[in-house]
Amino acid sequence: MKALVIEKPGSLRVTNVPKPVVEDVGEVIVKVEACGICGTDIHIFHGLEFARYPVIPGHEFVGTVVDLGEEAKKKFKIGERVVIDPNLSCFYCEACRKGMINQCENMINQGVNKDGAYAEYVNVNMKQCYRVPSEMSSEVAVLGEPMSCVLHGLDRAKVIPDERVLIFGAGPIGTLMYKSLHDVRGVSNADMIEISRERITAAKAAGVESISDVVKDNAYDVVFEASGNPKAFEKGVMLLKPGGRLIQFGVADEDTLANLPLYEVYRKELSILGSFVNPFTMSRALEILRAHEDRFRGIVSKSITLEEAAEILDGKISTKRFLKAMIKF
Ligand SMILES: [Zn+2]
Ligand SMILES: [Zn+2]
Repeated sequence: MKALVIEKPGSLRVTNVPKPVVEDVGEVIVKVEACGICGTDIHIFHGLEFARYPVIPGHEFVGTVVDLGEEAKKKFKIGERVVIDPNLSCFYCEACRKGMINQCENMINQGVNKDGAYAEYVNVNMKQCYRVPSEMSSEVAVLGEPMSCVLHGLDRAKVIPDERVLIFGAGPIGTLMYKSLHDVRGVSNADMIEISRERITAAKAAGVESISDVVKDNAYDVVFEASGNPKAFEKGVMLLKPGGRLIQFGVADEDTLANLPLYEVYRKELSILGSFVNPFTMSRALEILRAHEDRFRGIVSKSITLEEAAEILDGKISTKRFLKAMIKF
């Protein structure tokens, strides 16, 4: 089968590799229909500490069940359409036993430390599969995983509809956050900040109403940092009202530091919270996408081939002009 393989940091090729087969009772072979391109995939190309090399990236995907082990047959059938949760926890480490499955010490991250879906077929576990209706477009179905991560961030922030919310960074994640808050949850006071003109245009085309390159207000209840830029984090903390919460969602390099004004944190009783992947949020994410499909249609704005995906990973094609691209098989 055809696949994109990252052989080591900085080196990739589109090549033929053996098609995966069922090797265990709980396994499912999925014929990939579409796979979203994520910023994490670009990080893996440049070198990510917890990635395994060589690896086939791709963790945001939808496809059809084409083969399955004896155990998996109890739950799924050949021909069913499924979206995959790429993160599979062990359920026996200390973090899992405390209920923090996203902090699992033995987590399998499909497309990071196990082969993912920049390929015609992929081997997953039945525990990762979620049925999706055949009517849901591939453009919306591939948002299942990013949406499940966004929902965890929203859970952490505990936003209520009359609060003022600011989102730094109008990438696909920031835009999903905005639309989940503004369009689905009725948070009318949500603003976005983005420095790239092209991204502002793309976010507006996807239906974001309040977006600018300057901060509109000087006090927010909740700030989502979805850019990974330490300057955004620092600015965000200063913009919080008493009792405010800042959610660090953007992925910074491991050695990036930011300044935290201790007096502000103390005096205003601020909460600084992290949000990592998607514990127990996948079903809800798919339900939101199903119920509000028209709201989320504009986020994947480009369909590409595996060869074009290679050019996005190695920087020959800029991702600034569109919010999210998707490989269509
Ligand atoms: Zn992703
Ligand atoms: Zn675990």
